[in-house]
Amino acid sequence: MARYTEALCRLCRREGEKLFLKGNRCMTEKCSVERRKYAPGQHGQNRGKLSDYGMQLREKQKVRRIYGVMERQFRNYFEKAAKSKGITGEVLLQLLERRLDNIVYRMGFAINRREARQLVKHNHFLVNAKRVNIPSFLVKAGDVIEVREKSKGLSTITESLTIAEQKGMPDWVEVDVQNMKGKVLRIPSREEIALPVQEQLIVELYSK
Ligand code: SF4
Repeated sequence: MARYTEALCRLCRREGEKLFLKGNRCMTEKCSVERRKYAPGQHGQNRGKLSDYGMQLREKQKVRRIYGVMERQFRNYFEKAAKSKGITGEVLLQLLERRLDNIVYRMGFAINRREARQLVKHNHFLVNAKRVNIPSFLVKAGDVIEVREKSKGLSTITESLTIAEQKGMPDWVEVDVQNMKGKVLRIPSREEIALPVQEQLIVELYSK
């Protein structure tokens, strides 16, 4: 399956802002966006003003990169959102938030979404007591996600949980850190999805 292989910090530098793709490093002065405030590549320092189309395109790329979703799949999410009764941009973000890899990350079982995706693929989680190893699996309100018994000693998970406990988790999930188990209380509203994203630009891009 296709996935991003480009260095994560390069993706942030391309978008000109922190996308928090790594974890703890993103909060330190080692962050590449802090150290080199220009796009990567030969012409990175000469980037001019973006056209309307350029801004829409960059916004779409930014969201794809945050969630680690390839173009075709992202387009499918958009089409699903456009057919729904809600506000297209908001539903798009909600669909992305409902991905199992994102939920694993939001519950603090992984330091970033990329790591969450790997853990899901390697069969470390149960959803409603059943094994699920598909990162794009769409979680619903009320679903319970738990670390499998055999995986509870994994340092990747325990260390991530310790950090997440310190940072705090979103209000729309409830996590029992001791038992490595979490419940999705509700699908987050737009206000609860704390991302610096102008989703309306993506809607405009795809509506052309
Ligand atoms: Fe992005 Fe984090 Fe790398 Fe900074 S450290 S450039 S926020 S992935």
